[in-house]
Amino acid sequence: MVQISIVVPCYNESEVLRAFHEALVDALEPIGTTFEICYVDDGSGDDTLVIIKGLAGTDGRVRYASFSRNFGKESAMLAGMRMSRGAAVVLMDADLQHPPEFIPRMLALHQHGYDQVVAQRDRAHEGALKSAVCRAYYRLVRRCMNVEIVNGAGDFRLLSRRAVDSLLSLPESNRFSKGLFSWIGFETVGFTYENVRRAAGKSKWSGRHLLNYGIDGLISFNSRPLRLAIHTGLWLFLSALVYALWIIANVVLDGVETPGYATLITAVVALSGIQLATLGVIGEYVGRIYDESKRRPHYVVRETDESAAVLSSNLS
Ligand code: UDP
Ligand code: MG
Repeated sequence: MVQISIVVPCYNESEVLRAFHEALVDALEPIGTTFEICYVDDGSGDDTLVIIKGLAGTDGRVRYASFSRNFGKESAMLAGMRMSRGAAVVLMDADLQHPPEFIPRMLALHQHGYDQVVAQRDRAHEGALKSAVCRAYYRLVRRCMNVEIVNGAGDFRLLSRRAVDSLLSLPESNRFSKGLFSWIGFETVGFTYENVRRAAGKSKWSGRHLLNYGIDGLISFNSRPLRLAIHTGLWLFLSALVYALWIIANVVLDGVETPGYATLITAVVALSGIQLATLGVIGEYVGRIYDESKRRPHYVVRETDESAAVLSSNLS
């Protein structure tokens, strides 16, 4: 059994992949433990797979799987964890934003008995707007969720074998790892490092991606948004009732007044807005039930190296 598996999702990373591999091996070899590197090509359109195959050809510790199209980072991490055979698994990005120099430190903490070791980046080098939005988002999530997720704690982390196995036993098809990591529990420890820019290539996360990812995070861990919609609806209904009684009382006491178009229109617009929002929330949950009920695999594997080929039948 190898000691450490490094799981690396790669999507169009041809510009940095070789440099990343070199830096990773340089960081791992001095530790003196056995390791394997599991690259998962997430349907890249560039030379990523060619480079990975080249690395696998010259370095026996490299294993890989390649998807038939882009399935997203969550799926790639899942495939990598399924492929991994190490006693500990490190998840990291290919763009050198997760510096391999921290792996020995993570390993040392793991040997002190921690099942999850999280390397948190501070958001120093990120744009002011992005970091403000992220902070606000994490505040919102912390208030809504029944699991704790930490600002800046990305997916750069070490997991013990039993933590990985419990992650893999979760059957949901909408995976929001940041939440799942916290949901499985176990002893967790973290340390902070200064955020670094990606070495080359560009980020795959546009604003729209981030927004969708954020909605996933909120919805996949609780039904509180649904509850909120119900509460709002009930309060509105009650206040409408009180208002109606007041109007009726007015009519009975003073006779008919000027017809209140403004009030009427306002009420209609406000209520239909609430209804639409509520429908949206319900629809979101129904959509998720639909997704889960299809029981589709998280990804389709196009090819793997020989060692992973045994797994490729249950990879998807
Ligand atoms: N990635 C992936 N599939 C995707 C998008 C990204 O496997 O659809 C990988 C990417 O190759 C990188 C990691 O996920 O190794 C993080 O991506 P990126 O650096 O673009 O995200 P950021 O650091 O900007 O959040
Ligand atoms: Mg990055």
